[in-house]
Amino acid sequence: MNARKRLLIIYTGGTIGMQQTPSGLAPARDLAADIQHMPELGQAFQTHPPVLETLSYEPLLDSSDMTPGRWVQIARDILQRYQHFDGFVVLHGTDTLAYTASALSFFLERSDKPVVITGSQLPFGWPRSDARNNLISALEIAANMPEAMTQVCVVFGSRILRGNRATKVSAKAYDAFDSPRYPHLGAIGIDVEYNRRRRFPVAFGNFAKQGRLPPDDAVALVRLFPGFSASTLRAICSNSNLGGIVLEAYGAGNGPSQNPAFREAIAEAVQRGVVVVVVSQPLDGIVRMSSYAAGNALARAGAISGRDMTTEAALTKLYYLIALGYSADNIAKKMKTPIAGEMRR
Ligand code: ASP
Repeated sequence: MNARKRLLIIYTGGTIGMQQTPSGLAPARDLAADIQHMPELGQAFQTHPPVLETLSYEPLLDSSDMTPGRWVQIARDILQRYQHFDGFVVLHGTDTLAYTASALSFFLERSDKPVVITGSQLPFGWPRSDARNNLISALEIAANMPEAMTQVCVVFGSRILRGNRATKVSAKAYDAFDSPRYPHLGAIGIDVEYNRRRRFPVAFGNFAKQGRLPPDDAVALVRLFPGFSASTLRAICSNSNLGGIVLEAYGAGNGPSQNPAFREAIAEAVQRGVVVVVVSQPLDGIVRMSSYAAGNALARAGAISGRDMTTEAALTKLYYLIALGYSADNIAKKMKTPIAGEMRR
């Protein structure tokens, strides 16, 4: 029996393959050849090095250019090749990596193979670059992750994180990602150690294979700040494509309670069928709208609690549920329930 694992590397762009250009760092380097000739790979896998194939996107992207359509393209590329590979590694820019990781955890319905997303803070080949280490860790984990916990995960620096719990926490440190509201799935040191957390694949349908994408502006993200005005909210909600808003509120999910116009703007949006989901601004915040009168005011206006979801998970989950064509009531119900391990029960 051939014990060699088959891994597909999907290279979307990001700093990992960037080079200096007259206008700054830009994705330029074809990493496929570099990857095949990394001598460390042989040592990392000793007896059974994996069979690697690389799919490089054209054009390669700075991840600031990612769109929902591109999340779904990655999901479709994985699903089309699903039977031929044992695991998948997605190379991605760090800026929006957590959105893509969250989106894949929803759009890759029923997936039970490891999908590992990584990138780097410094380009491949630069002094002290983290690119090789992250890539080798990602490949090792895509090949060897214990079966009961295979899921969409972020592997970066010394951490293995659930994809839909991860968020970017540093633009400088090699541990660029964390999951402050959920335990790490594992630690990468001398050995790779797993903290066994089982997977929760979404079991809804077949969107990535068959579905049609809603417009990008079907979802919006609004961060509250002192003085945020009802008219700004109304202007956002006047877009007829809008199906849902993620509202980054304060602390336990609080918003201005002495500003009736703000509450009315939320209530109007909800009445028009826009699902308003409240998440917490602090990295380790959890929404408990009944803790304060200020949170209760948002709840009374019809906003629902995203509890401990990250902004990235809430936004991509909302987009996914809208893409499935569910009614606003059904979306609101599912936003309150974990569907892929993205929130606590
Ligand atoms: N701007 C880059 C990107 O997200 C940053 C990175 O990869 O670290 O593509």
